[in-house]
Amino acid sequence: MRLLVTGGTGFIGQHLIKKRLAAGDSIVCWSRDPAKVHDLFGQKVEAIRDLPEKDELQIDAIVNLAGEPIADKRWSFERKQLLRASRIDLTHQLVEWVKAQDQKPEVLVSGSAIGFYGCHSSDVQLGENSAVSPGFTHDLCADWETEAIRLEEDGVRVCLLRTGVVLGHGGALSKMLLPFKLGLGGPIASGQQWMSWIHIEDEVEVIEMLLTHQHLQGAFNLTAPEAVPNRVFTGCLAKALKRPAFLPMPAFVIDLMLGEGAELLVQGQRVYPEKLLEIGYQFKYPELQPALNAIVR
Ligand code: NDP
Repeated sequence: MRLLVTGGTGFIGQHLIKKRLAAGDSIVCWSRDPAKVHDLFGQKVEAIRDLPEKDELQIDAIVNLAGEPIADKRWSFERKQLLRASRIDLTHQLVEWVKAQDQKPEVLVSGSAIGFYGCHSSDVQLGENSAVSPGFTHDLCADWETEAIRLEEDGVRVCLLRTGVVLGHGGALSKMLLPFKLGLGGPIASGQQWMSWIHIEDEVEVIEMLLTHQHLQGAFNLTAPEAVPNRVFTGCLAKALKRPAFLPMPAFVIDLMLGEGAELLVQGQRVYPEKLLEIGYQFKYPELQPALNAIVR
């Protein structure tokens, strides 16, 4: 398969590309920094800074993962614009490019996040058709999805990745590890907020399944069946690292660090992978403790 990937230099993209290269795919990575692509993958991946002219690049499938990191900095007005532009405008450009090609790819697998559902403090499990709670993250994900879905009218199959916190070497977990290793880890705020997570191996395997199974389309929750409250997550991480986890991180500290973005950590969502389970996907890591043990081992 000839695959075009955006965000291929990122945490999920790197894992996906390495696996698809090993499977024999030919990969083109659309990146702001082609030198970074070559540093990561050598000459095995073709790097492009701009989408080529009409019909110069034939591809079978696209995985669209690009996006400015969401939980790294305070959400100022400018930052929110950047979070939106790096996803929605980029996806718009990608979709317009595909629309202009005579030969279109069979499938677009495009990023989204469980932020689609907004923040829910209740214990209700959220499936793909659950009610959403309005706010910035919902609007961001909904508008991102809407751009991608426009390709359906051109006969392209579109799958949307409503991804939870992806656990693996790198990504969100790498930021959590240091305080825990120093014995300074602990629950965030009340610790009662739900954390919906997925192991990176399942994330990549689901993307591969969506690429190759031609009957699958629409939005999918990429979260393990066992979401946990933050204090349970904290306990499992401490156990995996064999470190204590006594020091809670008060909500106001997260507020100071992230502003409005604190809602990502202080409120949560209990997301359930209804569609993946319906189609019989077998999670390699359905439970949190074995997932964390495997990563920090
Ligand atoms: P990363 O932050 O690791 O990588 C994203 C990639 O997007 C970067 O490597 C970069 O590629 C590109 N990018 C970053 N900023 C910009 C920008 N301003 N404009 C254009 N491109 C940009 O992300 P992940 O791999 O962790 O996640 C992939 C996608 O999945 C993201 O969109 C993320 O929001 C979403 N997601 C991830 C979750 C997670 O836990 N990891 C959870 C839920 C959703 P380059 O420099 O090559 O252009």
